[in-house]
Amino acid sequence: MLIKKINRKIKPFSHFIWLILLILIVSFATYFFDNNKKKQSEIFKKTLDNIYLQKTFTKITSGLESRFITIDYKVKQGDTYENIINGISIPKAEKKLFLKTVTKNNNLKILKLNQNLYFKIDKRNTPRILEFKIEVSKKKEILFTRSIDEKIFISKIIEKNLDKVITYKEGKITTSLYNTAINLNIKPGVIVDFARLYGFQVDFQRDIWKNDSFQIIYEEFKNLEGKVIETGDIIYANLNLQDNDIQLYKFEYEKNKIDYFDENGKSMRKTLMKTPINGARLSSSYGKRKHPILGFTKMHTGTDFAASSGTPIMASGDGLIVRAKWCGGGGNCVKIKHNSVYQTVYAHMSKFGRGIKKGVRVKQGQIIGYVGSTGLSTGPHLHYEVIENGKKINSQKLKLPSGKILKGKQRKLFEVNKIKIDVLKSELISKI
Ligand SMILES: [Zn+2]
Repeated sequence: MLIKKINRKIKPFSHFIWLILLILIVSFATYFFDNNKKKQSEIFKKTLDNIYLQKTFTKITSGLESRFITIDYKVKQGDTYENIINGISIPKAEKKLFLKTVTKNNNLKILKLNQNLYFKIDKRNTPRILEFKIEVSKKKEILFTRSIDEKIFISKIIEKNLDKVITYKEGKITTSLYNTAINLNIKPGVIVDFARLYGFQVDFQRDIWKNDSFQIIYEEFKNLEGKVIETGDIIYANLNLQDNDIQLYKFEYEKNKIDYFDENGKSMRKTLMKTPINGARLSSSYGKRKHPILGFTKMHTGTDFAASSGTPIMASGDGLIVRAKWCGGGGNCVKIKHNSVYQTVYAHMSKFGRGIKKGVRVKQGQIIGYVGSTGLSTGPHLHYEVIENGKKINSQKLKLPSGKILKGKQRKLFEVNKIKIDVLKSELISKI
């Protein structure tokens, strides 16, 4: 009775109710779609943000409804099979089985930089590896599938009929590096590699300006139809920021050990100097201390190096000057931004180095100023601070990758390699 009554009452509005329902459904759908898109772009942004940390799980795909996860992994410097498998949350026995399988295979003795690995994991109940694939070369990979009794993996060699092509691209950055590169038809994987190479010295969120430009030479692998199936290594890269070239050359400095070096044979893995001054004595370390002028106990957020007035102070790493002015208690001070993670501060300077001002790019070791006693200071010294993700840290306990510099025979081989790449570059440029 009652239902009938209601029915009769809402009947004139029924199309209206349907319309509201429809609007609700559509807005829910768009919400989830947008959210998903947002998530994806956030993942990309995070990859760029984390380049300093060298996160190399290039892709982890897992549908919410699916019981399987697939993982694409790209080998980074110093990787071992052990640390790669330890990065995946599966039981110990599974890790053991993987390592046993891999060490038994003679094709897989060496892990190379940028080599690709793929895992498919069944995450139901206790997670286990269903199959994994290891790239031996761009033309050959080995697929391991679980045997029926589950106890071993059976391997199969897959030959890929791909042609290697060396590609040259150059572009002026308009909106962002990513957009510019995508418009030039550069594959996202190459852009991420490029950003990772420069992550030690450039903050991609802030240091890139309109009309900055880049050049890049990299490998592409095409199938018989000429379609790009995979991308390989970057061979050469140049990022021109406000008329400064930052060039990087790929170089195999030891058998199977590849890294990127600038034109002077210095590794792109930039480090910060612990002591950015020569012939100085550490006079006050980081930590709580009684302030020599203010008198009360205060946290000393830097390290002091006593040196005679006028001693040159060096930039402790490559970077961008973000401050070069009087800053109260710190006297004449300079602040350098090295990348999205690290900044350094140098205080109490008597004067600034030649050309040192806000917005200028400096190289590691370049003189940025001279020791003085300006600001709140009892005598000539350098107050040096390292800021990590916005927090002041103890510079003397800083752990950073070693900034390798090629010397001797390696340096000679690098010079030859560099000339070859420069020749290749001019050939590729003349073709366009
Ligand atoms: Zn100090």
